Amino acid sequence: MAIPKRIVVLGGGSAGWMAASLLHHSWANKGAEITLIESDIIGVVGVGEGSTPSLKYFFEKLQIAENEWMPFCNATYKCGISFPDWTSHLDENEYFHPFYSDHDWKTGQAFIHNCNVRRQGFDIETRPNHYWLQAKLAKNNLSPKLKQPQNKELDYGYHFDSQKLGEFLKNRAIKLGIKHIIGTVEVVNNDDEGVHSLTLNCGKTIAGDLFIDATGFASLLLQKTLKVPFISYKDYLLNDSAIAIPTETRTDDDISPQTVSRALSAGWAWTIPLRNRNGNGYVYSSKYISPEDAEAELRAYLGISDRHDIKARHIKMRLGRVAKHWHLNVLGVGLSQGFIEPLEATALSCIQYTVEHFIETIEKGGDVSALQEPFNQQINTVYDAIRDYISAHYRLNTRIDSDYWLANREADSPEKLIKILSAWDDPASQFESTLKRLNAEVMYFSPSWYCLLAGKGRFKHKAQTLSSSIKTANVADIDNYCEQQATHFKPHHQALSND
Ligand SMILES: Cc1cc2nc3c(=O)[nH]c(=O)nc-3n(C[C@H](O)[C@H](O)[C@H](O)COP(=O)(O)OP(=O)(O)OC[C@H]3O[C@@H](n4cnc5c(N)ncnc54)[C@H](O)[C@@H]3O)c2cc1C
Repeated sequence: MAIPKRIVVLGGGSAGWMAASLLHHSWANKGAEITLIESDIIGVVGVGEGSTPSLKYFFEKLQIAENEWMPFCNATYKCGISFPDWTSHLDENEYFHPFYSDHDWKTGQAFIHNCNVRRQGFDIETRPNHYWLQAKLAKNNLSPKLKQPQNKELDYGYHFDSQKLGEFLKNRAIKLGIKHIIGTVEVVNNDDEGVHSLTLNCGKTIAGDLFIDATGFASLLLQKTLKVPFISYKDYLLNDSAIAIPTETRTDDDISPQTVSRALSAGWAWTIPLRNRNGNGYVYSSKYISPEDAEAELRAYLGISDRHDIKARHIKMRLGRVAKHWHLNVLGVGLSQGFIEPLEATALSCIQYTVEHFIETIEKGGDVSALQEPFNQQINTVYDAIRDYISAHYRLNTRIDSDYWLANREADSPEKLIKILSAWDDPASQFESTLKRLNAEVMYFSPSWYCLLAGKGRFKHKAQTLSSSIKTANVADIDNYCEQQATHFKPHHQALSND
């Protein structure tokens, strides 16, 4: 298949602008003309303020320096995610899921070794917070930027104002020559071969060879027009609603370089620190709490029960993915192709992966019908792998305070997750080999699985005193080593002031 000449991106949320930017970067000099249409009547979802390290590679690919986009988007650095209150059986009811790099190789190996010893029923400290550099950076309000920069940086993520990110990419894209049309699509003109053109509310018709569906949960082209089926994740992931409430930060507050995802009575609350405010929200199941009660619980948690001037936004979420992300001449990106709830902030990385993989696939060449099936399979594998990891968070909870948490323990588990958990529970199994055999490391490598399982205290065997014949890594030494390494990194506020 040749590179499409007329590409129409429908939707001006993060997905639309990210897709337009990547397609322009790869194909503008190969004759592709890109047009983005967005409605001024239908808004963007406007949440989604945390990233994984893949956003760093997105900006690097487009050669956009941090000091160009971060101040504009009120962005901060993110070393990982802290998960407090997901259990009720541990003394320290919080663990940190770090972004890790080559820098962690030795201490990471020690962590995995000690976890395997603990899986065999011996008493040893396995809370991830002691073993990973970025856990120490987060704890001490340090950035992932070295005081003396070296060639190889750590992998890290960001927090950012999602509306501003869209605006930044839009301004840049328009300057680079992407055509921008404001209008609402009223008619999709299509036949058995796909979409030919879109007719807007002003009467204008826009034709194209390839259409990118970035219309958010509406999925106007892929699901509504081409009738691509939607595979729901609702049996595995119970949450279907969210509330977002931003709060001010005091100027003298240290800005934390971590997302906090704290379990509440019927879901979990995020706190995402930006330069000028905190993004906060509650992701919950409407079967277990009403929107009014959820808002009241979130407000109480944030200490703003009496601040009626701070408005809340209520959002309905549909979790799952389409059966085919690329069908005929339409590629779905963003919420139109699927959504797994935001517990690990993976949505933007899925957008990026979909578009990059699409570009690679087209550039490899070949017949469309032969390219589409493996492409769709690969994107489905990515979505399902994230779903499995997120489902594990819920399955492993040990809270006893509400029916919601009990229902989560008892909900269906994806087949692969059942195998992963039974391998972990079996002290004789080589857990890392099992992950490889199950191809379970598509999105989360083994350290992430170990952090999740050990962090939630998933150990079936009661801890017995460690015998001297079993070799373990000394936790206090590793903890000190990580603390010492952390001193080489800039304080977060300093890294932000000279980014
Ligand atoms: C509660 C919540 C928290 C989240 N947290 C994170 C996070 O921490 N990290 C992360 O990576 N992601 C997160 N996400 C996901 C993230 O917000 C989205 O993936 C991202 O914003 C992309 O959205 P979108 O562009 O697909 O859709 P939208 O933002 O909804 O944009 C849709 C666009 O389509 C246009 N449109 C729709 N219909 C028409 C029409 N008929 N004609 C013309 N234009 C039309 C609209 O005008 C709009 O421009 C979160 C999502 C939710 C719901």
